[in-house]
Amino acid sequence: MKKQVSASNGFNFDTPVVKTQINDIQFYVKRDDLIHPELNGNKARKLRHYLKLSNSDIKTVVSCGGNQSNAMYALSVLAKLKHWRFFYYVKKLPSQLINNPVGNFKLACDNGMQYQEVVHFPELQSTPDTIVIEQGCSGSNAEPGIAELAKQINQWVDTNNWQVCSLFLPSGTGTTAYYLQQHTPWPVFTTSCIGNPDFLSKQWNRINADTMTHPSILTAKKQVHFGQLDMNHLRLWQSLQKKTHIEFDLLYDPQGWSALLENRAKLPGEVIYIHCGGLSGNKSMLSRYNHFLSRQIHEHKQT
Ligand SMILES: *Cc1c(COP(=O)(O)O)cnc(C)c1O
Repeated sequence: MKKQVSASNGFNFDTPVVKTQINDIQFYVKRDDLIHPELNGNKARKLRHYLKLSNSDIKTVVSCGGNQSNAMYALSVLAKLKHWRFFYYVKKLPSQLINNPVGNFKLACDNGMQYQEVVHFPELQSTPDTIVIEQGCSGSNAEPGIAELAKQINQWVDTNNWQVCSLFLPSGTGTTAYYLQQHTPWPVFTTSCIGNPDFLSKQWNRINADTMTHPSILTAKKQVHFGQLDMNHLRLWQSLQKKTHIEFDLLYDPQGWSALLENRAKLPGEVIYIHCGGLSGNKSMLSRYNHFLSRQIHEHKQT
């Protein structure tokens, strides 16, 4: 196969698809974690539209959302690369995080993010010099970047002469899964990591009420509340790393792989798992797990 080099500014959106095996089952992984060291995964895809802008009047990017969100960190990198100001609205921060910033929050602050704590996120409008990006980078400007991802996958499947296959990725807002399904003939499967499956259907219904255009939702036997520590998730994450030699993210991927492994039989043909990046958040998640485990050992010793 012809090797394509499309790197510019350290970005390579033409990521490889690799074959891997988990418990005797074969999977393929689209390595979007390799797009760029700082801005990768589906956030890089969703922000592709903005990355491509040149000579714009934009001076500031504004968004809102969680205080450890991958989207927030991705926006801070975008702003840094573009020399834009980045302004972010968050709900009241824990004083511990203000006094001792960690994880994506620290990385975003280091990149120059300015933030304001609010009770309700404000309704904002873009102007020629200020762009407003929806929470989780979920707006319609995410579509062209996801369409490019779909095109690469479609071509890869063609080149490899597959007759049928399925695509899978875990969902937050459901934006990536939705736009991916609009640009590929292959069925897209996903699972909700943030709310119940209803939440995803509602999101998609707002874009198009025709459910034929929606991805399919799988559920894992156990739904872990978003951001909550779960020993089964940690073990699965460790075993995925051992078996595939790929580092996955600790927030979305354990829930995603649980749903996929439990429902593998429902997916036709070979399965391509889209790696959505998010590894910048692993450090703070792992330190939370370490803290949790050492406290358990401590409590165990005392009884
Ligand atoms: C943001 C994110 C998702 C979910 O993307 P949506 O488009 O909001 O559904 C999945 N995995 C990782 C690692 C993410 O950072």
